[in-house]
Amino acid sequence: MSHSGKNVESVVSHGLCTGCGTCEGICPQSSIIMELDKEKAIYLPSIKAGGCTFCGMCVSVCPGKFVDFKDLNQKIFNQPSSDFLLGHYNNCYLSHACDRKVRYKSSSGGLVTSVILFALREGLIDGALVTRMSKDNPIIPEPFIARTEQEVISACGSKYCPVPANKVINEILKVEGKYAVVGLPCHIQGIRKAELINKKLKERIVLHLGIFCGTTKTFSATNNYTNQLGIDEINISNISYRGSGWPGKLSICVKNNDESYYEEQYLKYYSCEFCSYTPWRCTVCIDQAAEFADLSFADAWLDEVIGVDKCGSSIVVSRTKVAEDIIQKMQLKGVAVFSQITADKVNKSQGFFPRKNYLELENTCLWPFMGGIFHDIIMMNY
Ligand SMILES: Cc1cc2nc3c(=O)[nH]c(=O)nc-3n(C[C@H](O)[C@H](O)[C@H](O)COP(=O)(O)OP(=O)(O)OC[C@H]3O[C@@H](n4cnc5c(N)ncnc54)[C@H](O)[C@@H]3O)c2cc1C
Repeated sequence: MSHSGKNVESVVSHGLCTGCGTCEGICPQSSIIMELDKEKAIYLPSIKAGGCTFCGMCVSVCPGKFVDFKDLNQKIFNQPSSDFLLGHYNNCYLSHACDRKVRYKSSSGGLVTSVILFALREGLIDGALVTRMSKDNPIIPEPFIARTEQEVISACGSKYCPVPANKVINEILKVEGKYAVVGLPCHIQGIRKAELINKKLKERIVLHLGIFCGTTKTFSATNNYTNQLGIDEINISNISYRGSGWPGKLSICVKNNDESYYEEQYLKYYSCEFCSYTPWRCTVCIDQAAEFADLSFADAWLDEVIGVDKCGSSIVVSRTKVAEDIIQKMQLKGVAVFSQITADKVNKSQGFFPRKNYLELENTCLWPFMGGIFHDIIMMNY
């Protein structure tokens, strides 16, 4: 569908922007910039005055406006989705990295980081789009292309704040090479849509690593939490939302006249209050499993792991041959341990993806008001 004559302003004005940054990354005129909306505490695209030629490319790649699940399944996997909740998959695993330092520092089993390190060492990729917290302003995420092992490890761990990761695809377009990309479901959707219209991007991105996502959080989640601790965000010198085992903890370093250190268990700070700062667009997203990734990764919220495994394990869903080959090689070379689990177990670990089930609930008219809103959005996305 041609979108010429339009730009992403229409997506923003309808409240559909996911903040993924694909529009900034793809804009041929470099006329879009992801800017912090202070009121909403999320990133939104802003169009530079006089720069837009209304070519419509930003709208064509936008996952906030529309995702054709059937078409993408066909184009990426050559078949319809095999599992209503999880999306197309080949195999599901419970897994952890064998490198103890990576496993300890990461969110769950350190698998995302291990896959990138493995792909770099094997020469499968020259770099990976990952996200670390900025050194200059540690409460701001900094998506970048990591090209060394140290850089990949510096990006370990989940960031519970808005991340416009895909703005960095303009670097992938500029610099030749093979790349992996790491992102939430909306990032992966944006990249896959961009690959449909940009051959260079499709050739260069050889590995899509998707993170399961229950919803992300606005900057207000962290801001409210640090305010309650009496910390002025301007004095934060380091923040990490996960890591130090599993499920891990939030760690904050504060520099005033002296240096102080705060930490809180993940299961305590990731409360109803913290989660109440969820961007509206996330609440109507039905892709919690990063269905269009080659490999999707999740916390292992399983009975045999909770309270038992303090080091961390990841659930890994492999969806393509490239992904399956990497898993087999990592296993063979002792880089990570994988044991097969059922898709049903994965779905159960995520509470059976409540928002996807909304599709069914909505049909039963159990949710006459919310159902109506969901229906409109889902139909736009499905
Ligand atoms: C906002 C958010 C919501 C999540 N919701 C769920 C959920 O509902 N259920 C579930 O099981 N798991 C969820 N996860 C995934 C989980 O927290 C772990 O990321 C996942 O298990 C992979 O862990 P790992 O140890 O293999 O990754 P690691 O080795 O720690 O690597 C994580 C990678 O993800 C990248 N990254 C981190 N945060 C972001 C971000 N916000 N945007 C883009 N890239 C990022 C980092 O750059 C790093 O490369 C969520 C993660 C995030 C960030």
